[in-house]
Amino acid sequence: MGTKGREIVGLDADKLIELLNKAFADEWLAHYQYWVGAKVARGNMRGQVVAELEEHSGDELRHAGMLADRIIQLGGVPILKPEDCYKMTNCGYDAPEDPSVENLLKQNIKGEQCAIEAYNELLAFTKDKDTVTYRMAEEILEDEVEHEEDLEAILEDLKKAR
Ligand code: FE
Ligand code: FE
Ligand code: MG
Repeated sequence: MGTKGREIVGLDADKLIELLNKAFADEWLAHYQYWVGAKVARGNMRGQVVAELEEHSGDELRHAGMLADRIIQLGGVPILKPEDCYKMTNCGYDAPEDPSVENLLKQNIKGEQCAIEAYNELLAFTKDKDTVTYRMAEEILEDEVEHEEDLEAILEDLKKAR
């Protein structure tokens, strides 16, 4: 834990760590949802969809890493048991039981929209109080906005191709 680094945070650090762990849970579940979705995907434009899902899967894992590092900097502990991700998540987990590319895109768009809201809230919470977390949330939010747009664009193309 960085002693001075924690001291300058103008927020209840335990509350902040809890919010970061909730986002961390979301990222792990999103990572897995993309990862397994890419494995089971079926249907038109499968190759393109799988490439996008795999890319996003990697991005979500990278986000989880950023959050874990920040939690540790603040003296917290990232979620240690996968089952706790289910208890902490904001955005939940949508199992890709229907593996059609259309359903996968819709499920993941919903997840991205939830992530966008969650990071927007984290930004509001940390603004002018914790610059380090604020800038990290900003960077992640940029990716989530791009993810949503990428998936919506593919879904549009898919509808046109029908
Ligand atoms: Fe993410
Ligand atoms: Fe995302
Ligand atoms: Mg993308």
